[in-house]
Amino acid sequence: MIPFLDLKSVNMCMKDDFHAALDRVLSSGQLILGQELEAFEEEFAHYCNVQHCIGVGNGLEALHLVLRAWDIGEGDEVIVPSHTYIATWLAISETGAIPVPVEPEKNGFLINPALIEAAITPRTKAILPVHLYGEPAHMGEIMAIANKYGLRVLEDVAQAQGARYRGKRTGGLGHAAGFSFYPAKNLGALGDAGAVTTNDPKLAKRIRALRNYGSRVKYYNEEKGYNSRLDPLQAAFLRVKLKHLDADNESRRKIAAVYMAGLHDANLVLPNVSEWSEPVWHLFVVRSQRRGDLQKFLKEKSIETLIHYPIPPHQQQAYRSDACAGKSYPLAEELSQEILSLPLTPHMPLEQVDEVVAACCMFAKSS
Ligand SMILES: *Cc1c(COP(=O)(O)O)cnc(C)c1O
Repeated sequence: MIPFLDLKSVNMCMKDDFHAALDRVLSSGQLILGQELEAFEEEFAHYCNVQHCIGVGNGLEALHLVLRAWDIGEGDEVIVPSHTYIATWLAISETGAIPVPVEPEKNGFLINPALIEAAITPRTKAILPVHLYGEPAHMGEIMAIANKYGLRVLEDVAQAQGARYRGKRTGGLGHAAGFSFYPAKNLGALGDAGAVTTNDPKLAKRIRALRNYGSRVKYYNEEKGYNSRLDPLQAAFLRVKLKHLDADNESRRKIAAVYMAGLHDANLVLPNVSEWSEPVWHLFVVRSQRRGDLQKFLKEKSIETLIHYPIPPHQQQAYRSDACAGKSYPLAEELSQEILSLPLTPHMPLEQVDEVVAACCMFAKSS
């Protein structure tokens, strides 16, 4: 059986370091905020080449807290990809603002910058591009539009820790960024975790307060905040994993290269990566007009695949009473019918990758 993602193998390699991290946190006696968290924040800010990192409870909260700190709320609009994980949308909805979907580029998965201007209204406050599947969004074009209209840009980096756009790390390309360290992400904790990065000291200060009940000095609450702090224990685990992130991403690139070369004649649409971006292959997603049959064929060969995502946000029940529900976003809808994510675990045996390639090619011939 070839699992879609073998998280256990990824984490078990670092078992001894995790135990040492647990010991360190236990003997520190500090279980909320404190040194261990600060050390991770510093190391991760350095890794992303940004001034500030604030550890928070999860990726959704990271995005939400930034929008909240920008005072985005009822009556405002935020531009968001029509093709993304629903959490990107939920972060906007949680503030009371309206997510305004923009379709992906024709031959790719990322928000199409050429369609953004048409979606801007006097109520638009921000753009929320997603570095989907590990591939950086077209940030140059997006920042140019944002500057022209005085909009803020919040990167959703849940799927692209370590990726680069024109040589610059994701997380430092917009005005702020929200990270998720959900266990299955490229940099994953051993539970829920997230972070905000930014070069804006005022924003960093406000988010530090918002994640901690809106308080800077204990029992003095300047505003109505949240409880969304990154646990020192998860921070300690993340410090262990951060050391392996570049090597893991490199190994993801090798696997993606084998898929790219091997699947050339497999009658699939392969990911189309811009020459200026260095993706980190959170997922390897192909398109097939016979997606259902292909997935079934692979399953019979004991190859596990997943769909990211089968229902676009605007068609979710959760959004049934929003304005977007009645609209059609044909590119997002088409993608949801055709995409399939192939198995990808850092350091998975290349023979397994070859096996997946062979099975896809066999399916192509049989049809
Ligand atoms: C995982 C993910 C999130 C949410 O992160 P959580 O830590 O699970 O809350 C947001 N956006 C995208 C694109 C994601 O993949």
